[in-house]
Amino acid sequence: MNDNPHKPVDMVLVCIDCQREFTFTIGEQTYYASRSLTIPPRRCKPCRVERRARLVPDPNSWEGRR
Ligand SMILES: [Zn+2]
Repeated sequence: MNDNPHKPVDMVLVCIDCQREFTFTIGEQTYYASRSLTIPPRRCKPCRVERRARLVPDPNSWEGRR
């Protein structure tokens, strides 16, 4: 019997961008949990990387402000 309901397992999710299945691994789940992110990712890694590359944050936008 599985007596640990919180035992992490790999999750297979479908990317909302490319509709492909991708694995939300235990390691990634742990990483998300460590950042208090309870919602699993909706995009696969390539799509997330691509999206992040498009939305380039300006590193000086908050640093140069007083
Ligand atoms: Zn994708």
